[in-house]
Amino acid sequence: SNPLDKDQMQGLRGIREFLKVRTSYDVLPLSFRLVILDNDLLIRKSLNILIQNGIVSAPLWDSRNGTFAGLLTSTDYINVIQYYCQFPHEIDQVDQFRLSSLRDIERAIGVLPLETVSVHPMRPLYEACRRMLKTRARRIPLIDTDDETGRETVVSVITQYRILKFIAVNNEQHTMLLKKPVREIGLGTYIDLATANMNSSVLDVIYLMVKYNISAVPIVDKDNRVMNLFEAVDVIPCIKGGAYDELTATVGDALSQRAEDFGGIYTCSEEDRLDSIFETIRKSRVHRLIVVDDDSRLKGIISLSDILKYVLLYGEEEDDLQEY
Ligand code: ATP
Repeated sequence: SNPLDKDQMQGLRGIREFLKVRTSYDVLPLSFRLVILDNDLLIRKSLNILIQNGIVSAPLWDSRNGTFAGLLTSTDYINVIQYYCQFPHEIDQVDQFRLSSLRDIERAIGVLPLETVSVHPMRPLYEACRRMLKTRARRIPLIDTDDETGRETVVSVITQYRILKFIAVNNEQHTMLLKKPVREIGLGTYIDLATANMNSSVLDVIYLMVKYNISAVPIVDKDNRVMNLFEAVDVIPCIKGGAYDELTATVGDALSQRAEDFGGIYTCSEEDRLDSIFETIRKSRVHRLIVVDDDSRLKGIISLSDILKYVLLYGEEEDDLQEY
């Protein structure tokens, strides 16, 4: 058989073994900051706190019961926007919503609540990865319980990005074996891509993200050349200060207001291989790669979940998968 296939499989196995002997705790930096929001906080105020802290998500805390109350993510804000669109007369009420109302908002607009899974920080990292893939959660809170008091503590949150970065940094001997072109291994999505253009409204793009259940929409010109990428997190500054009426603004306007430290978008070609994608992840804060041809025309999109899924599941037997 093809030596590339053999190396590829050996690399994947090496990474899987690594994930089984490391814990979620190992992924955390030596020191870190964790912003936890009280469930009683007004949704409107939570936006400012995220923006001021330069974060896009936070665990919620129910201080009355002393329990973890879920993860706040950009999906929640998109739900609030959908609520506002369905019930435009209730803008005053929307302004008074607290984070604890998020579940009611989901119900009102008829979306299924995301399953909140958590993992214990000392469990194998492999388990956290499998949970992520199974529930489509992009981030999982690490929750520990105090032996004496039985109280829960949110230790941190691990994301797909952090896990892939951890693999990229610690597993070069395995990632360097992944030499098959992304086209050949079918990594990513290449058909039925959701796209928009600079003149689309922010609401149009949000609608696409909801419809396709995706967190980013490539912005292309009339020749399908990639101009930019609108991500779910780009919604946060748009609605800062309760400016829901500004969602009719164009994508072009919204993207021009991105923070100065915006890292840019990452592209690759269909000839690129996972070894170089891991190289990119090692060096930069990548959340997805846009696959383009030599003329910058859009070919596909590779999300972190596509990479994680391939790394964990490719070539595994169905039976092994039932376990998690
Ligand atoms: P994140 O990128 O936020 O970490 P994720 O990895 O789950 O989350 P999504 O962008 O939600 O990524 O992608 C989910 C699936 O949809 C992936 O298989 C991806 O290839 C595909 N996908 C992503 N963006 C688009 C798009 N614009 N059009 C069609 N399919 C897409």
